[in-house]
This record gives sequence, structure tokens and C-alpha cells, in this order.
Amino acid sequence: MKVRFWGTRGSIATPGPETVHFGGNTSCVEVTTASGNRLILDCGTGARALAVELTAQGKKASNSNILFGHTHWDHIQGFPFFSPAFVKGNSVAIYGPEGSRVPLRDVLAGQMEFTYFPVDLNELPATITYHDLTEGIHTIGGARVATQFLNHPAMTVGYRIEADGVAMVYLVDHEPFSDELWRADAEPGHIESILHDGDRRHAKFMAGADLVIHDAQYTPEEYLSKKTWGHSTYEYVVQIAAAAGVRRVALTHHDPGHDDQFIANIERSARSLALQHATGLDVFCAYEGCELVLEPRAALRAFVTEAVVQAPVAQRRFRILVVDDQPDTLTMIVRALEAEEYDVSTATNGPDALRLIDGDLPDLLVLDYKMTGMDGMAVMNALRAEPATQQLPVLMLTAMNDEPSTRAGFEAGVTDYVTKPFSIPQLTSRVRACLARTQST
Ligand SMILES: [Zn+2]
Ligand SMILES: [Zn+2]
Repeated sequence: MKVRFWGTRGSIATPGPETVHFGGNTSCVEVTTASGNRLILDCGTGARALAVELTAQGKKASNSNILFGHTHWDHIQGFPFFSPAFVKGNSVAIYGPEGSRVPLRDVLAGQMEFTYFPVDLNELPATITYHDLTEGIHTIGGARVATQFLNHPAMTVGYRIEADGVAMVYLVDHEPFSDELWRADAEPGHIESILHDGDRRHAKFMAGADLVIHDAQYTPEEYLSKKTWGHSTYEYVVQIAAAAGVRRVALTHHDPGHDDQFIANIERSARSLALQHATGLDVFCAYEGCELVLEPRAALRAFVTEAVVQAPVAQRRFRILVVDDQPDTLTMIVRALEAEEYDVSTATNGPDALRLIDGDLPDLLVLDYKMTGMDGMAVMNALRAEPATQQLPVLMLTAMNDEPSTRAGFEAGVTDYVTKPFSIPQLTSRVRACLARTQST
């Protein structure tokens, strides 16, 4: 398997003398398997140069698979310049997470509306197919491709591509689920010792991979003021990849404010941190033009997931009960969920919530941890004690991001644990992930 980086920048293209080495084009990675199949991860501005290269190869007809992690600007901006889509006889299969109430095709058509671009998506001569994804295992371009939701203020999936006896994993854009990575009562450095279910699932998704390409936009110092923006630090990536037994990590989605020297310093810090972990993890900062050939090192352990390919959730109307004793927070959450076309009901205390659930079981409960009287944890315990509500998905909202509270939440059986302050897009994508997961079982 061959991997080539065409764009390594996050947020916005940043050309200029300061970024010559690591590159100024936004996210785009080309994966070519031994059988000649091409999988393109994201189509940021880097996709233009890739398209030029493909055209120069002069093949009569080309087939491309484009896998979008999500449809933020810096990941789709190169798509209208992907010239193979302008050639009749070519085919382009496009994959990406289903949008919030809008299919992937419509999202891509949006940036090619006449106001923004002269060629309409419908006018492209190539045969284009669209595939909306949730979590599961798929076959794309002859490769086994697993998808899993990431933590980002938009529905975003990570990809694990297994072919030619190797596994490469693409995890851009993503931020830690929890401030604390490790449980206090377990030895750090092992997947089982990871505190938050989300981070543990993330580690398992990359386990044993030959290459992990991971968002590492911020330094740990910068991250303090950029929480909820949906990006990681090299510190998180190195720790989690070392625990997951990853062979090599490429840090990417470089911040537009970081010049070559700054990124070289990040690389140094990341390497010395990896050395401390002594798992043999090789880490570097991805640069434009970097090409890697992945060779099998041992029998590949295929990724196993409980999830089969899941039914799309966009078409269904879900019922969500929101329980919070703060009227402002309650109103804000209800508005956000109603805008996503969920049927929302509310309660302002635990006993009322239990009564409502008893009368009519919702699809999801969004539950505040700290409430006067019966708190969220007491509601959880009551729900899990009853067979009828043992499986009810519960997303717990809390200002308590400390290790004991997070642990108590998961031990009580919450499905997800979201700490305040959160952004609305972050909340709605976590709600969607909860619903998509629980609908499959
Ligand atoms: Zn991005
Ligand atoms: Zn993004």
C-alpha cells in the first residue's frame, strides 16, 4: 500500500515561504493499493495537484474513490478542481458521513452553486455515485474499510483501510473526548486504562495499525483556549497511539498559524514523548509530497466491531427527552435539537423525567448530571435497575470533567458523557452518534 500526502494543512490553505516544507494545501491523502485501486481521503486544496498528476498519467479512464471524513470547507474545497470528474468515461465514487438532514450529494452541490462556482455539480461529465456512511465495515476499492465517528463539531468519520496485509487509519478532525486520558485506578499506557469510552473506542479503532494519520493541530498550551473546536494535540495522539500499539504516526492538519519551524518543534516534542513511552512508535509531522510504502510486518489483525453496517438515521424522526433544571440550558438544547428535526420533550427534575419515561420510552435521554433533588446519577441508577430502561441510550451533560465524576458516569451506564461548556454542533453530532450506534443493535 502506497500513501501520499497532497495536503497537510488544517482550516485554510496557507501558501508562502513560511510553509514551504510542511506545505500550505489543506487535507488530501492518496492511498493506492497493490491492485491499483485508488482511495482519496478528503479533497482539500491539495486535491488539485493530485488531479493534475492523475491527468498527466494519461490513463484512458480513471476510477477514483473519494472518502470524506466530513464536509467542512478545508476538506472539500479542492473537489470542484478534481479534474478527473470533468472527463466523460471516468468514474468517481464519493463516500462520507450522512449530513445532518441533508444527503452528502447536496452538501457538495452547495459549494458548487452558481454564486460560488461556475460549474454545477450536475454538469460534471464523469459518472459520480454518492454513498452516505455511518459506522460499520465497508468494501471500497477492493479494500476493507471500517468507519467510526470522531469527536468534532460536525458529523465526522475516521477511516481504517485494510489491504495488502497492512492497516492505515485516517483520523482527521478529532478532539479528545475527555481532559483526563487515564483512569486514576489503573496503570496508564494501556487501552483498558483509558477513562472515557469515546477515547477508548478511538484507541481500539487504531490498534495495531501500520500507519495512523491523525489531527494534531494544537500544542497542549494552545489547546487550553481551543477546547470544543474539534482538534487534538500531539500529546494526546502520541499517548493514545502508543497504548494502541501503532507502528507509525503522521501528525497532520497543521494549524495555519504554525510555520515550518514551529511544526519542526512540534515534531521534536512528539518524538521525545514517543521515546518515553518506549513502544517503538515512530512519529513525524506529515509534509506535502511525503510518500510512504507500507509493508506487512506480521499477520494483520483485522479490526473487529460489534456494529454491522448501520441503517442511516437521517430519515427517521427520533424522540428525545431532555432533562435539565437550568431553564436557559434547557431552552438552548431544545432549540438545537428541534432545529435538527427531533421530537423533543422536556423535564426539569429527575422524578418527572422517570414518570415521562415510564409512560412513553424515548429513543434517547439527554440528562443533566447536577440537579437539585434527585440528580442525574440517581436517575441513571433508577433507569438501569429496570429491565425496560436498561438499554435506553443516555447522553449525560455535565460541568464535572474530573476523573472521578467521569468514571462514575460510565460506571452508572451512560452511553456518552459530554462536558460543559460544549458547542451546539458538538452536542448535536454526539446525539447523532448515540442514535446511530444504538439503532444498530
Ligand atoms: Zn479540518
Ligand atoms: Zn472540521
